[in-house]
Amino acid sequence: MFDYAGSIHFHSAYSYDAQVPVDQIIQSGLKAGLDFALLTDHFNLDAQKDGWERMHQAGGRKLLLLVGEEISPRYNHYLAFNLASPLVVSKTDLHSQDVIDTVNAQGGFGFIAHPDHAGAPFVGIRAYPWVDWEARGFTGLSIWDLMGDWTSGLTSLWGVLRALACPAGVLRGPRPETLRRWDELAQRSHCVAIGEIDNHATRKRLFGVTKTLFPFDYAFRTIRTHVLLPHAFRGDLANDRAAVLNALRLGQSYVSLDLWNPPRGFQFEALDGSQRVTMGGRLARKGPALVEAKLPAPGRIRLIRNGRVIREEYSHSHLERDVELPGVYRLEVDQRVRGRWRPWIFSNPIWVD
Ligand SMILES: [Zn+2]
Ligand SMILES: [Zn+2]
Repeated sequence: MFDYAGSIHFHSAYSYDAQVPVDQIIQSGLKAGLDFALLTDHFNLDAQKDGWERMHQAGGRKLLLLVGEEISPRYNHYLAFNLASPLVVSKTDLHSQDVIDTVNAQGGFGFIAHPDHAGAPFVGIRAYPWVDWEARGFTGLSIWDLMGDWTSGLTSLWGVLRALACPAGVLRGPRPETLRRWDELAQRSHCVAIGEIDNHATRKRLFGVTKTLFPFDYAFRTIRTHVLLPHAFRGDLANDRAAVLNALRLGQSYVSLDLWNPPRGFQFEALDGSQRVTMGGRLARKGPALVEAKLPAPGRIRLIRNGRVIREEYSHSHLERDVELPGVYRLEVDQRVRGRWRPWIFSNPIWVD
């Protein structure tokens, strides 16, 4: 398997609320060592129309830029990919089922963006949660959002100063309510996760300090979604684009905070005597089975079945566990950084029958 690291959900000058031109964003992505990036401007696919969707190269590095759309009325923001044409709805439109159905009818697919976004009332940032949990037909949801996580700590002057001084140090990881919801959804049907950064690189003035939140050079090194592909990129857009989008749709991927410890080499699989299944897949057991995880460095590992922790290992880089019951199995890993356990890797589930 080839592990490609990507960044999902950010805005360029093609969005009404962002200013950084696409070519500059691509340079940041190359510098940060991203393999792919999914641009999602509000209500348009202009970057695709203007020819930015392709492999970019500089300094011996390559970055595949793909263009999706963030459909963003007042609530229920939706990240849509593989669209034939952009969807535009009014800011007050709350018919998220129509949005999902229209995306699917185009041959596209999508993820719920920042589902439990809470804003930061202390500094005047509004909340943009997903509120329509009756909706069906989405591919999955974002479980971890750089911007949402970071702003959730802005609850006091002290919180603001801490967040500005040490942006990644204040990240808490996916919200428990988001993981709970994901575990419930995944027990009902195939529902997979991505990570997102929701970056605008806007300049903001907070208590007299003007700062860019966040420069792309930095944001691209934080929360990533890694896809596992059976083949290396071939250099032709149609093939490489389909490979990345397919892996995201199927959940052959995991979410991680790459800043301190690169997670490349992470694997989570379920197997029995005759078959081996990776994340996003289903294992129909034909005999004794087990789940197996490998990490590139020791971490604190939690194995979760149907939303409950069934095994916790400290400072291990390997986990193996017999599977005696059917269920939805996934893995969370924390990393030890500067004397504290911090969120690191969140696998997509494996469904075991
Ligand atoms: Zn949004
Ligand atoms: Zn956004």
